[in-house]
Amino acid sequence: MELVCLDLEGVLVPEIWINVAKRTGIKELEATTRDIPDYDVLMKQRLAICKEHKLGLPDIQAVIADMGPIPGAYEFLAWVREHFQLIILSDTFYEFAHPLMRQLDWPTLFCHKLEVAADGTITDYKLRQPDQKRAAIKAFHSLNYRCIAAGDSYNDTNMLGEAEQGILFDAPENVIREFPQFPVTTTYEELKAEIRKASLRQIP
Ligand SMILES: [Mg+2]
Repeated sequence: MELVCLDLEGVLVPEIWINVAKRTGIKELEATTRDIPDYDVLMKQRLAICKEHKLGLPDIQAVIADMGPIPGAYEFLAWVREHFQLIILSDTFYEFAHPLMRQLDWPTLFCHKLEVAADGTITDYKLRQPDQKRAAIKAFHSLNYRCIAAGDSYNDTNMLGEAEQGILFDAPENVIREFPQFPVTTTYEELKAEIRKASLRQIP
């Protein structure tokens, strides 16, 4: 029994915060896990910037509602779901992901939660558990699933290492250099080829 576990941002949908930065013109919001590997440091910085610029959840949701999946992501997911069980393991938040999940036909998503004040200010965030991507793979192993995982950033590498096969998708040079053990893919066709290779079955 095989699971495919995928990161969300940078793999299936564009980076949410980069789009918010572009739309609002707030340059400092462009930093992602690619730039700051410590997610807690990164999120605290993001929330402080939002507060400073009076950017609330509805503003951010408006940007996200306009973002579609990466071209080809929908068809790629349809292929994955035909041949594997699919879980999305993301460090985003349910409040942000909701409009994007609709456009991907509501795949199963494990991520985090925001705390939001009545006026829309994001006051805090709640990580469901530390190192959740790796913890999920370990849990799936305890349920006798083989895991094939793909992601693009530092926050994916523990998941990729824990899975039977980890695959990098459209990763930046520094991540590719630091983690040479993972095959590198840049298109959905290449990613499909690596998933087929990792599977114990003959996948068309
Ligand atoms: Mg990502």
